[in-house]
Amino acid sequence: MKVIGLTGGIGSGKSTVSRFLGEMGAVVLDADKVGHQAYQPGTETWKELVAAFGEDIVASDSTIDRRKLGAIVFADPEALARLNRIVHPRMFDMMKARIEEYRGQGTEVIVLEAAILLEANWTPLVDEVWVTVASESTVVQRTRERTGLPEEQIKARIRSQLSNEERSQQAKVVITNDGDLEELRVKVEELWQELRK
Ligand code: ATP
Repeated sequence: MKVIGLTGGIGSGKSTVSRFLGEMGAVVLDADKVGHQAYQPGTETWKELVAAFGEDIVASDSTIDRRKLGAIVFADPEALARLNRIVHPRMFDMMKARIEEYRGQGTEVIVLEAAILLEANWTPLVDEVWVTVASESTVVQRTRERTGLPEEQIKARIRSQLSNEERSQQAKVVITNDGDLEELRVKVEELWQELRK
């Protein structure tokens, strides 16, 4: 079995590449979704978060109110680091367990899609890192269309993340995604064929 860690900056095409790989036969594990499951009520992580950030972050149905938590950590790097120290190791363990489960089922290719794969030090989970990159103007245009966020906010997000160069240095495969969707699909198909050799 091969585990691909797929990462890349905002709007660079991670989800689209995951979708293509999924259509070709890979199992896709989305770190965001695992993140949502990581702090369900009753878990150790839930308790740690409430202890760290207060009862205010608990919604009426006992789940963590992600919007409130987001507002707390948004402007406070120390709070964000605290949140990450609580949640990231839990996500690592959950993703590891899921990967082992798939291994037991004879799965051949898993794609772990994670925007923060490198930042969270999750690379021990994967056999190779693939990175999607697109130019700033492409990212701004696509992200504006998708989210409606203003250009300045998108640029601020880009600047707050690792650069394409920093990511690419750690990657086995760099997927440049400045062309159209068909061009991207052809690139992914070639990579898939290579993988299956
Ligand atoms: P985010 O980090 O914001 O979740 P992402 O890296 O997962 O983004 P996608 O969601 O795959 O990126 O792509 C961002 C947007 O750009 C989507 O609306 C997607 O459909 C579109 N897109 C991606 N690649 C292309 C392409 N080659 N041509 C046209 N549109 C594209």
